Amino acid sequence: MRAAVLKSPKNLMLLDLPEPSSPPGGALIRVEACAVCGTDIKMLDQGHRDLQYPRILGHEVVGRIEEIDPEAKAGCHPELKAGELVQLWPGIACGCCPACLQGADNRCQKMRIIGFSCDGGFAERLALPRQSLSCSINPLPEGADPVLFTLTEPLACCINGQEQARLSEGESVLIWGGGPIGALHALLAELKGAEKILVAERLPGRIGEIRRNTSAQVIDLSPDDRDGDGRDLFREAESTILSETDGRGVDAILTATPEIKINQWQMSLLAPGGRICLFSGPRPGDDVEMLDLRSMHYLEQTITGSYGCSSRHNRLAARLLLSGQIKADWIITKRTDLPRIEEAFAHSSRRAGFKSVVCFA
Ligand SMILES: [Zn+2]
Ligand SMILES: [Zn+2]
Repeated sequence: MRAAVLKSPKNLMLLDLPEPSSPPGGALIRVEACAVCGTDIKMLDQGHRDLQYPRILGHEVVGRIEEIDPEAKAGCHPELKAGELVQLWPGIACGCCPACLQGADNRCQKMRIIGFSCDGGFAERLALPRQSLSCSINPLPEGADPVLFTLTEPLACCINGQEQARLSEGESVLIWGGGPIGALHALLAELKGAEKILVAERLPGRIGEIRRNTSAQVIDLSPDDRDGDGRDLFREAESTILSETDGRGVDAILTATPEIKINQWQMSLLAPGGRICLFSGPRPGDDVEMLDLRSMHYLEQTITGSYGCSSRHNRLAARLLLSGQIKADWIITKRTDLPRIEEAFAHSSRRAGFKSVVCFA
């Protein structure tokens, strides 16, 4: 089969590989669509903590069951059969550690991840091991658009991030970054009933799309002639944030770009009781800023993190897309096929549009 294999950072190759076989107790999936994630770009550029080489990347996968072990049908979806269209939660969790038993299977101590520590969806076929079958497979109705449902996993990650940030109805939220993840966060915050949604973004194309497709107010960080280095823009952003929240600051901040640092200035944008969620992985060295712990104490502020999503978040995200409660098709701005996967990666890393998807059908 044809597959895109990352041999080492910056070394992505299109190869002919032997067809994988359906593992005992598992399933074989024929991939229909797999989206490029910001994490895939990071892996291509510089590697990743959870990545083992050589690797077929791709963890935002929709495909069709080609083979399934009859014994596997005892899992969550006993009705699963060959030919069915499915979306995959990329985690392969043990199912029996304390995190798994508490339903936080994205924190599984023995976690493996499709596209990170085992082969992913930038290939014609993908083998799902036995452990995957209990909670990884989300059946989709026939006729569902495989490309749209590649957004399930990133949306699920946003659900996790907003849960960690404890964002609730009537609150205000600031989202740093208006890329695909910032856009999904904005749609989700809208659905949660957040009263004020601010998205800070610097690329004009993305600013326009966020304004057109969400109810978020965009803080325009695109540099102009008056300002080369962006510093004044952050001052302007600060005054917008404070004036939009009657000087209180926002209830929650979500980072949807690694370009923003957590420092005392960032804390000053938070209301009393406010929460910052480190959704985007901070860059190495970005974790050394001193914070005023006394003010965190008096204002009862929290900094939290979120990484990936649990299988529960994934199921919920699929439901939100299926029901049309989240309308996200505008986030897909590039479709290509496997031989042109580099175009899909280039579209994402250039940040010209939003999300690119490799299609196999
Ligand atoms: Zn992803
Ligand atoms: Zn576990």
